[in-house]
Amino acid sequence: MSRVLVVDTQRQPLHPCTPARARLLLKQGKAAVLRRYPFVLILKAAHGDAESAPLRLKIDPGSKTTGLAVVNDSSGEVIWAAELTHRGEAIREALAKRRAVRRSRRSRHTRYRAPRFANRRKPKGWLPPSLVSRRENVLTWVARLRRWCPIAALSMELVTFDMALMQDPTLQGDAYQQGTLAGFELRAYVLLKWNHACAYCGAMNVPLELDHVIPRSCGGSDRESNRVPACHRCNQRKGNRSLQEFLQARPAVLQRIQAHLKTPLAGAVAVNTLRWALYERLQATGLPVEVGSGGRTKWNRVSRGLPKTHWLDAAAVGASTPQVLHVERVMPWLIWATRRQRRQMCLVDERGFPRTRAKTSSRVRGFQTGDMVRAIVPKGQRVGTYVGRVAVRASGSFNIRTKVGTIEGIAAKYVTAIHRSDGYRYTQKGRRFLSTP
Ligand SMILES: [Zn+2]
Repeated sequence: MSRVLVVDTQRQPLHPCTPARARLLLKQGKAAVLRRYPFVLILKAAHGDAESAPLRLKIDPGSKTTGLAVVNDSSGEVIWAAELTHRGEAIREALAKRRAVRRSRRSRHTRYRAPRFANRRKPKGWLPPSLVSRRENVLTWVARLRRWCPIAALSMELVTFDMALMQDPTLQGDAYQQGTLAGFELRAYVLLKWNHACAYCGAMNVPLELDHVIPRSCGGSDRESNRVPACHRCNQRKGNRSLQEFLQARPAVLQRIQAHLKTPLAGAVAVNTLRWALYERLQATGLPVEVGSGGRTKWNRVSRGLPKTHWLDAAAVGASTPQVLHVERVMPWLIWATRRQRRQMCLVDERGFPRTRAKTSSRVRGFQTGDMVRAIVPKGQRVGTYVGRVAVRASGSFNIRTKVGTIEGIAAKYVTAIHRSDGYRYTQKGRRFLSTP
């Protein structure tokens, strides 16, 4: 089950405790809430470290969402899990918008404004801002979790397919996985490359076999470059013939297949770049970093009978994954990256000229947009208690986004902060796991 993160009086991380124990500690006044999102307790008195097992933080970096799971390697228990949603797309769009505004301003029939420079070079190791954001999101959470939880090792998914393993299954020493995992990787790779359709007739949603383009009897290899998915009928009809022989009457199909065989798997380039950039930085933490392939993650997850979610994928990353993963009653945190502030100085009209006054301080009466707050309104039209994210207005009359909707016009004097905005938005879904399989 999900455990509660605990730190001692010196803010050193302790082994996470059960929710029942956390409730008891709070009730007896032995602990206080350090932060609500995600929930962390701080002990009020020194504590002999009773239970301590090395924990492993496992990461499945993705382009939209990254899965995080803290796993106890010895017991197979998933202790804490989260799904971190990045704002890479939003960053890319914002930059494109800014670029368009500037470009149109320059090219309009106004005084000619030369570009200010044409001599910028990208420094070594440069990454697009949308990727930097994703990388920093993950690194932030690695650093935070290390503060609240005794993490001794890291695992991450580095490559989607383990090419070396696919080409030469004997590389793998583990007897129990020999061949099987390699075959799994190969099949997943070939199916993805050919878009889960029969290469010869294009049939989808039928059982697909991996055909040898050059038949094995003619010395064809088992490698990915010699394999295409084929429906049973096409596979039978092709039989032991060569590709040219089989497709004699269909030159267009022959040409398409020959061209596609040579190209490696397209796409997912951004994710690969992100993963390698992340890997480099994770190694700098000094913790041992285990890497795994996407094929192995899926193999681990499927062989343990777990459904596909980001956090379960994270829990299944790498060769260190315990034989049995205990995921019952784990309530993953859903974390969205939000911006802390806006860089834009003012809003612009459709022609790119200022529409509003320059922005002023983002703090109003001690609050900032994005803070989690509780408002207790004793009288008037909006009497009641509201909990949610606040949007501040310079007038001191705030809006609060609660679960049931946005409540407008709450006076600042009724508002108290629960959690200061830290660049992320949170919810914890109970029973989420139970409803998905
Ligand atoms: Zn077919």
